[in-house]
Amino acid sequence: MGERRAAIITGGGKGIGRAISLQLAADGNDVVINYAGSKEAAEQTAEECRKLGVSAEAFQADVAKADDCAALVEFCQKTFGRIDILVNNAGITRDGLMMRMSLEDFQQVINTNLTGAFLMMKAASKPMMRAHYGRIISISSVSALTGNPGQVNYAASKAGVIGMTRSLARELASRNITVNAVAPGAVDTDMTRVLSDKVREQMIAQIPMKRMATPEDIANAVGFLAKEETSYITGQVLNVSGGMVI
Ligand code: NAP
Repeated sequence: MGERRAAIITGGGKGIGRAISLQLAADGNDVVINYAGSKEAAEQTAEECRKLGVSAEAFQADVAKADDCAALVEFCQKTFGRIDILVNNAGITRDGLMMRMSLEDFQQVINTNLTGAFLMMKAASKPMMRAHYGRIISISSVSALTGNPGQVNYAASKAGVIGMTRSLARELASRNITVNAVAPGAVDTDMTRVLSDKVREQMIAQIPMKRMATPEDIANAVGFLAKEETSYITGQVLNVSGGMVI
């Protein structure tokens, strides 16, 4: 393995983010685990990462706020002297049919999922450009690719992430920075545990693999794109959906 690198995982203490933090730590990267409100989960994940032999710190920041994003990147640089990998994982849902969706529910999802990813990319890409190295991976969703009733806000935010990924990949390729997205299907986390058994069964019936993804299924794909060796893959959307979208 090459030199020790440092990663930021937004929303890295829980669900998919937790699995990504552990994967990157297992691959030998130091990690900053960001959280908004779930401090305990983030501290616990940091402790699990340290057991894998790397340094790990939890850091509070709301990705929808520009100052918080700048502080998060600065913390990583101060703590580890570098920032090599950014994973935009933080995300929320405010589902509902559009006729009943409030402007606030629309904007809140856009602010966290899309503007949050923009702010983090903007803050992290500056030191990455100076270092001539970077891996930026954002978690999108199959909702962005197929649309999903009840998710006008969420699908728009996740499709926006794809457009941003493709554009930034073109801007940063000459600096040896790759920018990719992972589009999960249905993953068994708190986000999907709120759905009724009936809705979950209907979802599983549409998946050729006939099961939901584990957070580790998604983390594996992120770990792949975060490696030094995947330096020639950029601007791509890797769909990890058990065949839901083919
Ligand atoms: P989750 O268990 O609800 O976790 C969401 C994470 O995002 C939490 O760690 C949360 O931290 C963080 N977060 C939310 N708002 C934030 C903010 N403003 N600033 C910083 N962190 C914030 O959901 P998950 O299923 O693991 O989802 C992770 C990502 O995968 C999301 O982007 C989601 O859209 C995407 N995804 C999920 C599925 C699925 O089926 N579960 C499918 C496709 C894509 P706090 O608890 O501290 O707020």
